[in-house]
Amino acid sequence: MRAVVMDRIGEPVVVREVPDPTPPAGGVVVRVHATGLCRSDWHAWAGHDDVALPHVPGHELAGVVVEVGAGVERWAVGDRVTVPFVCGCGRCEHCRSGNAQVCPQQEQPGFTHWGSFAELVALHAADTNLVAVPEGVSFAAAASLGCRFATAFRALTARARLEAGEWLTVVGTGGVGLSAVMIAKALGARVVAVDRHQVALDAASALGADHVLLATGPTTDGVLPDGLPGSDVPARVHELTGGGSQVAVDAVGSEQTCADSVLSLRRRGRHVQVGLLPPVGGHPRVPMARVIGWELDLLGSHGMAAADYPAMLALIASGALRPQQLIERVVGLDEAAALLPVFDRASPAGMTMIDPLRG
Ligand SMILES: [Zn+2]
Ligand SMILES: [Zn+2]
Repeated sequence: MRAVVMDRIGEPVVVREVPDPTPPAGGVVVRVHATGLCRSDWHAWAGHDDVALPHVPGHELAGVVVEVGAGVERWAVGDRVTVPFVCGCGRCEHCRSGNAQVCPQQEQPGFTHWGSFAELVALHAADTNLVAVPEGVSFAAAASLGCRFATAFRALTARARLEAGEWLTVVGTGGVGLSAVMIAKALGARVVAVDRHQVALDAASALGADHVLLATGPTTDGVLPDGLPGSDVPARVHELTGGGSQVAVDAVGSEQTCADSVLSLRRRGRHVQVGLLPPVGGHPRVPMARVIGWELDLLGSHGMAAADYPAMLALIASGALRPQQLIERVVGLDEAAALLPVFDRASPAGMTMIDPLRG
């Protein structure tokens, strides 16, 4: 099969022929029809994850089952499927309670094994992790769910319990941030979207964000407690919302965006950390004095288990959520290989989707 291959950390990636995968016991091989290019792929390319080389990235995918391993009961060749980026083992207490997203023995395509920037991908524990894609949902829309959209959905619903009428601050309106804007509006919440790029904010406005704020970087205007790496964003959010938002999401993953999110909250507000914060430059400073004094909740969110997909898919089937609107462009494997090393500097107004069948 053709695949995007990383031979070394932090160096150019190439598209070349590699051996086809075989299904693991309990798993399947899927022909990839759509796979998203995500900041997490860039983290793996940059060496922030422990990946074995050579490596094939890609973890947001949808396609058709082409081979079924021993012991799979629920799936057959020809099924249209997608999968969460965290694939649980299917046997532990967490998987059995419906929380495969925190399985200690989890597999992640594109991280723990070869991923979906390829014509074919092997997936583990199919009976636990595969999700049927309804005929009315395109492969591209389904692929967008696996990481960023589902993560935003779970962050706002199961974790932050965002309610109609509440204010939500979304720091960073890339793929996961725009997903959060769309989902929050569908839930009846009010949204302040923050980003460094006007084009990303325009996309947030188009999805119904009530206010957008162009972040200009760190300031030393004395708004913040000493030494914090935040910006003037929190003060502007407090103005717009009359005292801060009830819920805030850091959809980027940096010391500053995390602090901006936490400090944008109203007293007793809930922060959800969605953007990854690998401790490559040491652990980030978090404004814990504010967390204590204002009784803030700090929540983590790590994808969403396949068991929780039906509620989200029902909202997509009804048209209440439209993840396909978040797809900005579709590229082939060759272009994906060129985009991956510069993805941290990209400012797309939405998601980049790869169609491996395009060449
Ligand atoms: Zn992702
Ligand atoms: Zn498990």
